[in-house]
Amino acid sequence: MKTERKTIELDGSQGEGGGQILRTSLALSMVTGQPMAIEKIRAGRAKPGLMRQHLACVNAAAEISGAEVGGAELGSQSLRFAPGTVRAGDYRFAIASAGSCMLVLQTVLPPLLLAGTASRVHLSGGTHNPMAPPFHFLERAFAPLVRRLGADLQLTLRRCGFYPAGGGEVEAEIVPAAGVLQPFDLMARGDAQTGYAECLAPGLPRHVSTRELDTLGGAMGWSGEQLRHGNARQNEGPGNALLATLAYDHVTEVFTAFGEKSLSAEQVAHGLVKELRAFQKSEAAVGPHLADQLALLLALAAWQGQKACAFTCSEVTEHTRTNCAVIERFLPVRFTIAESRQACTVRVSPD
Ligand code: AMP
Repeated sequence: MKTERKTIELDGSQGEGGGQILRTSLALSMVTGQPMAIEKIRAGRAKPGLMRQHLACVNAAAEISGAEVGGAELGSQSLRFAPGTVRAGDYRFAIASAGSCMLVLQTVLPPLLLAGTASRVHLSGGTHNPMAPPFHFLERAFAPLVRRLGADLQLTLRRCGFYPAGGGEVEAEIVPAAGVLQPFDLMARGDAQTGYAECLAPGLPRHVSTRELDTLGGAMGWSGEQLRHGNARQNEGPGNALLATLAYDHVTEVFTAFGEKSLSAEQVAHGLVKELRAFQKSEAAVGPHLADQLALLLALAAWQGQKACAFTCSEVTEHTRTNCAVIERFLPVRFTIAESRQACTVRVSPD
């Protein structure tokens, strides 16, 4: 189902202007076989151009697709990428800095999901980074949606990695669907099943996680088994991520707050409570982060299955809009977005 091989030219500063434009276009360039060129990569950011973690994504994409690449250097604001054939297999991708290795997975997952046979990917770097999907979010919220497409994604956390030390390790097993990816609608979350929190605070005094969990528990009415000290080993730190998992009949969401030196444990917990309340107040199936990641999965399914599909989300961020615009450059699909206070609807249809 290849489309015509013309170079797609992208402006990396469009919309939200972040690394997502690079990752989505690498992924879809490999999926469709269309070469692409991006200018002004992350032009509006404090440190513009390709950083180490973006280069790791480019290099991983080049490795699985035998691509010809130009401009893949630290700080580069333009990149040319012409993929060959994507090969399933056993891969190891490491980020030397504490950059998120989960973002490398986000880049190679779409092409490997369509690669014919299964792949095993070993990733090392950061597993719980601000501005990136944390491991537990991908495992509990995102992977079940991949399974609903008829494919499989199994994730194993061997070791946590936090900024600045890094050193986390994750195994991903990616199994393509037997036929094409199956489109589905995700319009409602269904009834609440469980809600619980866990605090990862390796290398930090025990009172940090106790205070974060107590504050979160007090605000959410959670206690006992619902408040868990996560099982990261002391030498995996220092680092701090406070995670809240909300499981419903049709979807599981994971929200994360990260500790910083300038924030008290109570402030970290309050930040998370705000996100949880915003999601609980809406009637949508998914939150803002799952929305931009689901948009790509459902676009692939709508294209392959030639059938429109839709989901509801609590908020349509600039991130999601930008991702949808980049997806439309590569795949013959159209997004329509209807916003409302209770739930926004994102629909993707084959062109
Ligand atoms: P960018 O900021 O353009 O590099 O993209 C960041 C990516 O990480 C997007 O796919 C976001 O949806 C995702 N992301 C950021 N923060 C979170 C979070 N707390 N939970 C899940 N995904 C996240």
